[in-house]
Amino acid sequence: MSTHEATPVAARTPLWAGLAAGAAAGELHLQTCGQCGTVQYPPRELCRACLADALAWQRVDGAGEVIDAVAVHASLEPWYRERLPWWIGKIRLGGAVKLIAHLDEAVRTPGAPVQVHACIDISGSAVLLALPPAATVPAAAGLRELLGLNGPAPEQQT
Ligand SMILES: [Zn+2]
Repeated sequence: MSTHEATPVAARTPLWAGLAAGAAAGELHLQTCGQCGTVQYPPRELCRACLADALAWQRVDGAGEVIDAVAVHASLEPWYRERLPWWIGKIRLGGAVKLIAHLDEAVRTPGAPVQVHACIDISGSAVLLALPPAATVPAAAGLRELLGLNGPAPEQQT
């Protein structure tokens, strides 16, 4: 159990397990169709392009750009309510797949180039962070605080 009174939302369906497995290895993994090669996000039971169920999680390049950015000023979740405003954005990766990620303060404008990283937050869930291309997760102080990445990782707690 966490020693914090509140954590980010942890509930995810098993469909997201591949994202968490990649994040635990420090890599961005997305669902990829074994039949037509489509990379998709969010994860689904079937390929969105050809409806095949031969989906595998594969490492993808997180380089992309911000399509849109928004500041969230209200949340029903206590963890986020204490950390508002909270910036999220829609990102287009090089392979045209789009995803939603937490935004570093330096990439909150449409068109900003980013590198998307997958991490495990303090609740044990996989989260996506969009940082400037040359930035590293350890240097992203604002996002580390937002997601509880400064605390002990859940698997390191005893
Ligand atoms: Zn397909």
